[in-house]
Amino acid sequence: MKMVKKILLALIALLLAVVIAVVAKTLLTPSKQISVPKITPIAVDTNAAASRLGAAVRLQTISSSSDPEANADAFKALHAHLQASFPKVHATLKREAIGNYGLLYTWQGTDKTAKPIAIFAHQDVVPIAPGTEKDWAQPPFSGAIADGFVWGRGAWDNKGNLMSQMEAIETLLASGFTPRQTVYVFFGHDEEIGGLRGAKTLAERWKKESVKLDFVLDEGTLIVEGILKGLETPAALVGMAEKGYVTVLLTASATPGHSSMPPPSPRQSAIAMMSAALSRLDDQQFPVQIRGLARDMFDTLAPEMTLVNRVVLSNLWLTKPIVESQLAKSASTAAMLRTTTALTQLNAGVRDNVLPGKAEASVNYRVLPGDTTEQVVKHTLAAFGEGAPVSATKKEGYSEPSKISRMDAPGYHAIAKTIRGLHPTMVVAPSLMLGGTDARHFDDVADNVYRFSPVRAGPDDLSRFHGTNERISLSNYSEMIQFYAEFLRAAAGPSSTKSP
Ligand SMILES: [Zn+2]
Repeated sequence: MKMVKKILLALIALLLAVVIAVVAKTLLTPSKQISVPKITPIAVDTNAAASRLGAAVRLQTISSSSDPEANADAFKALHAHLQASFPKVHATLKREAIGNYGLLYTWQGTDKTAKPIAIFAHQDVVPIAPGTEKDWAQPPFSGAIADGFVWGRGAWDNKGNLMSQMEAIETLLASGFTPRQTVYVFFGHDEEIGGLRGAKTLAERWKKESVKLDFVLDEGTLIVEGILKGLETPAALVGMAEKGYVTVLLTASATPGHSSMPPPSPRQSAIAMMSAALSRLDDQQFPVQIRGLARDMFDTLAPEMTLVNRVVLSNLWLTKPIVESQLAKSASTAAMLRTTTALTQLNAGVRDNVLPGKAEASVNYRVLPGDTTEQVVKHTLAAFGEGAPVSATKKEGYSEPSKISRMDAPGYHAIAKTIRGLHPTMVVAPSLMLGGTDARHFDDVADNVYRFSPVRAGPDDLSRFHGTNERISLSNYSEMIQFYAEFLRAAAGPSSTKSP
């Protein structure tokens, strides 16, 4: 009896110690948000700016991987529209073409020794999925202004960024602003198909010229509202890296033959071998882990959350396994925490009475920073098991995950300072960009690459991205112009943080 009492007391003491540790960790984890003086944003003539954005949306700048000249007239019309809309930009900045229809603007800085910086957006848009035109509240290329929004393909991705950057620079020029370091503004024309003609050409040119940038700010993760569980304030998520991309081609070969005499044992036909391999691969997903950037993101967000979430996320030392298994259940959070495996193509057989000699499948992986495409191939083969009769090779066009940009660097500081100055209750946190951007070509050219769009997105907005009813609200568009103006002032103003 005495023994039981002793054990019970010890357990209670242990439990108490854990509770104290959890409470202490929660209370002692301070906010990582910086306090900055409130910024009075520049005045924006929202209606005039919105109508210029609408005019840009009407130009159907759809890029094509097979035809570099596709929609050339639309790209030329967009260039003319920029020239007509932003006279001060075109009188002061040097403009040149990159890879036909890409545009590079150079805004000469006063300090020739300072490392240049760059902001990016892209001119091209994705097409409308056939048959969905009628689902739009406004015709998809109307650029209509209705119900407080600019509607149409590109209003968000990415003419919103492009036009608001131009509006911001036009306004800064009118106020007499000159950047300390040279500012490049680059608008690719083939981002949606990989950026090989635009962004990659520019990156290679800069490499050849030994141009070294302090940072690039490109489109990227968003200001999320009501998307992160337990966070009541909007959060500006800054993409510090993007995932890699690789498709692995699987091949199973067997003796072709008549279907009246199939192989007598299991897993000997090409289709059966492939099915077994795919099923094992699907069962053996990469583990979901809170590490690296995801860890930084949760550490930054935790102190800003409502109580339960704050306690749980402030104490990952204790709660990590539970949190990981919860996050693994949602496709979007799981994608942040692991290299994803997507079985996307399967081909075998030509007739219903012939055993095929070959079965092929494609598996598309999005590779987490920290993993490599070679590791992905090894993982694939390991999942099949020793001696499996299925081969795995990388398809062309793969890319490794980007490097991870620094938080303690001038570009990130400028983003945080601008967001917090304009919106004191908004949280700024590092994040991971799941899709690809033009910025991925600049890892060797820029010390840091940030992927952030000052676009507000709620739970039902994400499906508009490359989807139906793409739009941007007038108030958000006005904020975007203010963001880029203040960001350039913070990053390139006379008192901006100098790069080391
Ligand atoms: Zn985009």
